[in-house]
Amino acid sequence: MTVDLRSDTVTRPTQMMLDAMMSAIVGDDVFNEDPTVIKLEQKIAAIFGKEAALFCPSGTMTNQIAIKLLSASGQEIICDHTSHVYLYEGGGLAFNSGLATNLLIGDRGRLTAAQVEEAIKPDHVYYPKTALVALENTHNRGAGSIYQLEEIKAIRKVCLNNNLKTHLDGARIFNALAEVDYNAVDIGSQFDTISVCLSKGLGAPVGSVLVASAELIHEARRVRKVLGGGMRQAGYLAAAGLYAISNNLPGLKEDHRRAKVVESTLSSIDYIDDTLPVDTNIIVTKLNNNFPVQSFIDKLAEKQIKVVQFGKQSVRMVTHLDFNDEMLDYVCRTLPKIRPD
Ligand SMILES: *Cc1c(COP(=O)(O)O)cnc(C)c1O
Repeated sequence: MTVDLRSDTVTRPTQMMLDAMMSAIVGDDVFNEDPTVIKLEQKIAAIFGKEAALFCPSGTMTNQIAIKLLSASGQEIICDHTSHVYLYEGGGLAFNSGLATNLLIGDRGRLTAAQVEEAIKPDHVYYPKTALVALENTHNRGAGSIYQLEEIKAIRKVCLNNNLKTHLDGARIFNALAEVDYNAVDIGSQFDTISVCLSKGLGAPVGSVLVASAELIHEARRVRKVLGGGMRQAGYLAAAGLYAISNNLPGLKEDHRRAKVVESTLSSIDYIDDTLPVDTNIIVTKLNNNFPVQSFIDKLAEKQIKVVQFGKQSVRMVTHLDFNDEMLDYVCRTLPKIRPD
């Protein structure tokens, strides 16, 4: 048995998902003629109470398109210093949008309205103009931390008062929604643009969707084409997304339950220094200094368990659709047996 906990992107489509893909009705999506893509876009837009959506190859692309649309070259973006849009998109903020960054240190990636308000630059020739705030919910580097709706609303209010746009990197927004008492429409009402991944916990092989007003999505379509993301018979891929949205949402709760079990196992292991609170499907745990991270990763790999380094002495494990109770049991039995040399 191989257990891959490196990411929730490692899932493979099930036979039923593949069947849905193979029977998709398709057309040329650059001509806006792929009925399956249109169906997926309309479905995701409706879930968030927004007018329109755009199917893209990746979450990096949906984030980068959104940020491009909400800013102009030479302006700045406010985001957490560990946010995906800043840290994991190859410098795309500068590459694609010519932005300066105003990086804040959030609580496990989560910003507060007070922090945002203080960070906004005054209108002066010295400064870049602050254009937008990007939040991430759940927050990857924050070990899948979740925003409270009250904080999001407070941030949105600060942004509206200061003429700033708001973007949500909602790669894992459905993980957040599985655990909170607010819903997708609440989220939709607080952001100009929302990026949603189908290829994480939802288990589709490819695809992210950008959700926004009809006007913004009209512009987004052009930017997607410029970036080389205009796909033709993309309905085969969109069908996987439709299948995922219809069938795989309930599984997220299971992923979270299993992550909690791993968290509790780690809490009783002596070589573990500290584990960030597990709120969804991401576990970030820090090893004692006498257990080198690479040695820990290698020893787990010998037992067919894959994890990734996540900072100096930390590793990340992510639960997902292809991680079942049998694997969970194996991981929880194996972890305490691993010892530093
Ligand atoms: C995975 C991820 C993305 C998008 O990643 P792609 O690999 O480009 O699809 C964006 N934001 C966060 C927080 C992510 O975890």
